[in-house]
Amino acid sequence: MTNALSPSSTPVGAPKIGFVSLGCPKALTDSELILTQLRAEGYDTSKTFAGADLVIVNTCGFIDDAVKESLDTIGEALAENGKVIVTGCLGAKAGGGGSGNLVREVHPSVLAVTGPHATQEVMDAVHLHVPKPHDPFIDLVPPAGVKLTPRHYAYLKISEGCNHRCSFCIIPSMRGDLVSRPIGDVLSEAQRLFESGVKELLVISQDTSAYGVDVKYRTGFWDGQPVKTRMLDLCVKLSELAQSFGAWVRLHYVYPYPHVDEILPLMAEGKILPYLDVPFQHSHPDVLKRMKRPANGEKNLERIQRWREVCPDIVIRSTFIAGFPGETEAEFQHLIDFMKEAQIDRAGCFAYSPVQGATANELAGAVPDALREERRSRFMAVAEETSIAKLQRRLGSTLQVLVDSAPALGRKGGVGRSYADAPEIDGVVHLLAPEKASKVLKVGEFTKARVVGVQGHDLVAQPI
Ligand code: SF4
Repeated sequence: MTNALSPSSTPVGAPKIGFVSLGCPKALTDSELILTQLRAEGYDTSKTFAGADLVIVNTCGFIDDAVKESLDTIGEALAENGKVIVTGCLGAKAGGGGSGNLVREVHPSVLAVTGPHATQEVMDAVHLHVPKPHDPFIDLVPPAGVKLTPRHYAYLKISEGCNHRCSFCIIPSMRGDLVSRPIGDVLSEAQRLFESGVKELLVISQDTSAYGVDVKYRTGFWDGQPVKTRMLDLCVKLSELAQSFGAWVRLHYVYPYPHVDEILPLMAEGKILPYLDVPFQHSHPDVLKRMKRPANGEKNLERIQRWREVCPDIVIRSTFIAGFPGETEAEFQHLIDFMKEAQIDRAGCFAYSPVQGATANELAGAVPDALREERRSRFMAVAEETSIAKLQRRLGSTLQVLVDSAPALGRKGGVGRSYADAPEIDGVVHLLAPEKASKVLKVGEFTKARVVGVQGHDLVAQPI
C-alpha cells in the first residue's frame, strides 16, 4: 500500500517533504506519527519526488516482494530527488552477509536509515538536511495527529514487537520483543481519536492477545481509575468509550488462547464488533509446531465452535500458508477439512515463500513451487465457497453500515462496510441510491441497509 499526504494550512514557502508509506497498517501508524510531527513543525508535503526538498520512504521488509518494492521506491526517489531518508522494517534489516545494513548496501547514497517506530530519529535526520521552518503559529500538534486513513477510522497500536519466534517470520528480529504501551496512554489516544470524529477504531499489534504479558499485567491508571494492562480490561474500557461516541471497536491479530474466550460476551452484547482476526496459518498440529506458532497446542476447532455458541454472529477472518516446508498431502488435507468445518468467514492464503533470515528456511522437505501454488488454489476454492455461502445467508437481513464513500452528495449511493468487513482487507457493502428523497449518505456516518444482493466478496444493500 502506498500513501502520500498533502495536509493543508502550511505556510507558503515551507520546506516540502515527499512521503511514501509502504507496508501494513502497523507501518501506517508510524507514518502518521512522522507526518504529524512534520506538520506540527511547519513542513509541507509534496506529492511528487521532484517537487520535494527531501523524501522519506517508510519501508516494509516482511516478504521478499515487499523488500523489492521498498528498494525500488528508494531507487526512484534517489533518481528523481537525490535526498532520501529511509525508515521502517526494511531499515532494520541486515545486509547480505548477515551484517551491515541492506538498504545502505543497495543504496549507499541515502541520507539516513532507521528501523520502525523511530519518529525522533527520522525528525533529527530531517532537521539536519532540511532545517525546520520558524513559525510560532504552526508549532502546534493537531489534536489527533495526521492520519493517513480516512478520518472516520483509525488504527490504534497497543504494543510493539513480539515474544514469539514463528519460524517463517523475521519481525521479532527487526522489532524486538513485546513492549506493551501503558494502558493509560492507549486509552487516552483512543479517546482523542473518538473526539476527532473516528467512528471505527482498529486495534492492532503483532499479538493483541498478549497485551500486558511483558509488564505482568501491571495496573495502570486512566481517568483516575486503576486499570490492568490486560486485553480484557482494555476491551472493556474501549467498549465503554466507543459506546459513548457511538463508534465501533474492531480487534486484529488475536491468537486463540483460552483467555480470548473472555472477550466473546462483549461481542455478543454488541460492545465490541463481533469480528475476530485470528491468523491461524494452519490447522495441523505438526505443521503448527514446525511453524512455532503461538497457541499451537490449542484445539482451535473446538474453540471456534464455542465462540460461535456464545456469539452466533461472529465473523472470523484468518490467513493461512499452503506448502510450508515438510507439509504432506495428509497435513494439507487436514487444513482443507478444518476450513470446511470451521467455516472461516474471511480467509486469505499465501503459497509459502521463504523470507531471507527466517529459520523455516533450514527446515527439510521444501514443497515444490508448483505444488505450493496448487495447494493455495485448492484452499482458496474452499474458502471462496464458504465466504459466498455465508454472504448469501445475509440476503434480506438489515445491517449497520459505516459509509466510506458517498459521491454525488450521497444521493446516488456509495460504498460502506458492515461489522463483517475490516477496511482494506475484507469486502465492502455497495450501497444503492437511497429510496427516500430525504435520505442522503454521509461519509463517516452509519446507515442501516437491507441486503439485496451478493457480488463476489461484497454485498449490495439498499439504505433504509
Ligand atoms: S506472532 Fe509469529 S508471525 Fe506474528 S510477529 Fe510474532 S513471530 Fe511474527
